[in-house]
Amino acid sequence: MYDVIIVGAGFAGSVLAHKLATRQNKKVLIIDKRPHIGGNCFDSIDEHGILIHNYGPHLFHTDSQKVWTFLSQFTSWHNYHHKVEGFIDGHYVPIPFNLNTLHKLFPRFMAESIEKNLVETYGYGKKVTILELQKTADKDLRFIADFIYEKIFLHYSAKQWGKKIEELDPAVSARVPVAISKDDRYFHDPFQAMPQEGYAKLFENMLSHENIEIRLNTEFKDILRIEGENFIFEDRLLEGEVVFTGMIDELFDFRFGTLPYRSIELVFENHETDSFQNATTTNYPNDYDYTRITEFKKMYDAKHESTTIAKEYPQEFVYGKNTPYYPIFTDENQKRYEEYKKYAQSFKNLTLVGRLAEYKYYDMDDIVLRALEVFEERFADA
Ligand code: UDP
Repeated sequence: MYDVIIVGAGFAGSVLAHKLATRQNKKVLIIDKRPHIGGNCFDSIDEHGILIHNYGPHLFHTDSQKVWTFLSQFTSWHNYHHKVEGFIDGHYVPIPFNLNTLHKLFPRFMAESIEKNLVETYGYGKKVTILELQKTADKDLRFIADFIYEKIFLHYSAKQWGKKIEELDPAVSARVPVAISKDDRYFHDPFQAMPQEGYAKLFENMLSHENIEIRLNTEFKDILRIEGENFIFEDRLLEGEVVFTGMIDELFDFRFGTLPYRSIELVFENHETDSFQNATTTNYPNDYDYTRITEFKKMYDAKHESTTIAKEYPQEFVYGKNTPYYPIFTDENQKRYEEYKKYAQSFKNLTLVGRLAEYKYYDMDDIVLRALEVFEERFADA
């Protein structure tokens, strides 16, 4: 018998598997319905020899020394600071919107005057969310706020979420604040890098331990069933723990209704050219049906004769058809999630962790930190 059954081999499940196996000598079974570990972070070498992210671009960045130190046990790092351009009014400009973006889109006298106003109002180096900037009473700042809202957020968010940003949790648009600076990087965290040999290798190293058994191509429902407030594992009452990182509504047979997600269809293309675009990612807020194009080789400064890109087409998540990527933040969805969460508390040996199980828009570093915390709170000294 195993001490812990972990459903899902993404960051949440894999970090806990590693900790439980190495720190507490627990016998862990980690299962995943996919044919690989790593969840949506999974990467692989495509037929052109280029390392691609099979479930869309994953750029590692964190301000947590703890997360950085933990992950550095499993990988060395390729120094990389992510840059994104947006195609706005026929120009490729830095995203998030910053003072360089301002100068690229407006005549000099106008850009200089708005820059002065922004710096005097908010301070150089500060970041302001678009929802915050829109509250300004100043006429000129209001003009630039409306411009940024319309040209960068409105149509992108309509494609990405099928909603306006003000209908979503403010934290969503706050991920890409307006920067009162000339720093063109997408993230400003002190630690930013790509795993030298990719994410799949990082996960392989994290899960490589004699106490960890990995079963791929395995649906949790095929080995785990709920009876009352207990789990039955392969027809025997499970004495150990369950760590579930999948969709919480699926775990409980959708008894309180479905929790909506946004999905993405990724379309990969290989082009016979050294470079497809200027930045690693180009956002298209106002043109085309896709939101952005990512060119993978640029993350590693890799030399190849051709280049592979991925276009992202956001779409509604349909159970059994495509992959859930993003929980959708609305009050109604949050309430439904709370019902599931409350119900889950009646299971003594169940721990829910991860984007899908907690219905939360975690970044990679957030979920590593969360899993480390869950280990300390729930399992350490157990
Ligand atoms: N966003 C936008 N325009 C952009 C970039 C981002 O409207 O050019 C909004 C959009 O709602 C998006 C959110 O900001 O979902 C967060 O963007 P981020 O790049 O962090 O999304 P992720 O990489 O997680 O998909």
